[in-house]
Amino acid sequence: MSDRRAPVDGDPLELDAETMRRLGYRVVDLLVERLAGLDREPAWRGAPRAELEPRLRERPPGAPRDFDVILNRLVADVLSYAARVDHPRFFAYVPGCPTWPGILGDFIAAGYNVFQGTWLASAGPSEVELVVLDWFREWVGYPAEAAGVLVSGGSAANLTALACAREAMLGAEAGGAVLYFSAETHASVERAARVLGFRRDQLRRLPVDDAFRLRPETLAGAVEADVRDGLRPLLLVANAGSTSTGAVDPLPELAAVCAGHGLWLHADAAYGGFAVLSERGRAALRGLELADSITLDPHKWLYQPFEAGCLLVRRGARLHEAFHILPDYLQDAAVAGGEVNFADRGVQLTRAARALKIWLSIQYFGVDAFRRAVDHALDLALHAQRVIEGTPELELLAPATLGIVCFRRRPAGVDDEAELERLNASLVPRLLESGLGMVSSTRLHGRYALRICPLNHRSRIPDVERVLHWLATAPPDGVPARGAEVAR
Ligand SMILES: *Cc1c(COP(=O)(O)O)cnc(C)c1O
Repeated sequence: MSDRRAPVDGDPLELDAETMRRLGYRVVDLLVERLAGLDREPAWRGAPRAELEPRLRERPPGAPRDFDVILNRLVADVLSYAARVDHPRFFAYVPGCPTWPGILGDFIAAGYNVFQGTWLASAGPSEVELVVLDWFREWVGYPAEAAGVLVSGGSAANLTALACAREAMLGAEAGGAVLYFSAETHASVERAARVLGFRRDQLRRLPVDDAFRLRPETLAGAVEADVRDGLRPLLLVANAGSTSTGAVDPLPELAAVCAGHGLWLHADAAYGGFAVLSERGRAALRGLELADSITLDPHKWLYQPFEAGCLLVRRGARLHEAFHILPDYLQDAAVAGGEVNFADRGVQLTRAARALKIWLSIQYFGVDAFRRAVDHALDLALHAQRVIEGTPELELLAPATLGIVCFRRRPAGVDDEAELERLNASLVPRLLESGLGMVSSTRLHGRYALRICPLNHRSRIPDVERVLHWLATAPPDGVPARGAEVAR
């Protein structure tokens, strides 16, 4: 259809209502059709830059173009060259599979263009953020005095947490401070430390046990050595669901060590935190409430669209103290009493209303639906473990933990680590190319491991089984793969 646009009062950027509706409906149809056909799409499609440059490199057009033409091109030349992280057989990294109300929540937030930096500019949406944060607070078992902030993701939450801890513990004086975390800790922590100006010699990356957990005695030993050297132990980042294996550090025991030495305990629950919604997850995350601060990622296991991260701080006033500044040009936005300027809880002034999508999707489905989705993911991971254990060609390397399983292909009689690594490393890109699904890899105590994370609420047992079957039976590299029945 050709793009008929009525000029509106000579405004070069305004559209008439009829055109806006038509464009909007077109986009809704596109998204709904995509979701309906997702299972028949490849889980991944990529292209080298050399292939994409000629398709997309151009000067910005001076004249208007037809919306349908642009949209078709966006789908064909841009969006199809990406992983479908919401595909039912996308098991790599951490799948992202937002609900439709969540997606609409982001659309609404963009449409209303809510400025959620100050209460003055967004009283209602700010109240909704407080409400949503309070739900999270209760789920993790924090007291009423806790406070939080929604951020772009786990990386931003970890950065905000480290800045908050430093302010709370040291003020501006960070010389001699030492940060502790484990070899399994997410890289965003080290990056946050860099951003905040900590030098490498202020970071202690501690070894983990056979189950990929930081032992309390390992932490205590490192802290005591630093104290003897006249240094100032500042904080521990504990894993509450590590990215590689889902491992949860022994939080109660680590909390005791932290309390004994005056360390801030930050729990990185970006990946695993929302498992507290289920009984099994809650048991696995025992002691989470003892942390001084917690990172959560609603865009992971709370099924929200990117971006949605969250930081909760147990003594909530610390968060405000760490970030509050009132410049002259915002003096009209000053708050007293119970209102909150969310700009005073982190690094962003202009903020999108991330709370709306969370609120909308939880209102629409009810918490029980999310609880069941979390349980479903835990069940799928357990099922994957059973299939792996029952498949002679596959070897389990780390059992299902908070929805993650690590394993490898191990043909009978092959013991050479280098050969096993070559074989397994060749499977990851070939599975991608097949279009059937996607898994990622990691290293466990130095050994190359395949990793699957069946977090998607749309994934089913046959999805897991088909991908595992492919990995168990794909011919060794060099022989063309068969059995990938998904069309490209
Ligand atoms: C994903 C993840 C992060 C980073 O979160 P982003 O949302 O990707 O920024 C941090 N820590 C852990 C444990 C994670 O799994």
